[in-house]
Amino acid sequence: MSNGCTHIAGIQSVTPSALGCEECLKSGSQWLHLRICRSCGHVGCCDDSPNKHATAHFHATGHPIIEGYDPPEGWGWCYVDRVLFDLSQRKTPHNGQIPRYY
Ligand SMILES: [Zn+2]
Ligand SMILES: [Zn+2]
Ligand SMILES: [Zn+2]
Repeated sequence: MSNGCTHIAGIQSVTPSALGCEECLKSGSQWLHLRICRSCGHVGCCDDSPNKHATAHFHATGHPIIEGYDPPEGWGWCYVDRVLFDLSQRKTPHNGQIPRYY
């Protein structure tokens, strides 16, 4: 499952940065689904959330790979190559109680 994406080889085992979207927790906002950055562990909210912090993190940092994280669903996404791939063997577990708003 390479799909021409060279970033998958650089996936890191990361420690989640927060128990929920890092920026939404600071601003008191809500989110729909969460994504975790597999370069640095930043937890952000998805593009169906009002603030789209996961995509904003990619634009700010260039970190290419996110993982579905609400709950850990076993898939990854490369923003650069726009490919979905299997992460079921390398999921990042939640490290505490994460609030849900839906
Ligand atoms: Zn890629
Ligand atoms: Zn957010
Ligand atoms: Zn990152």
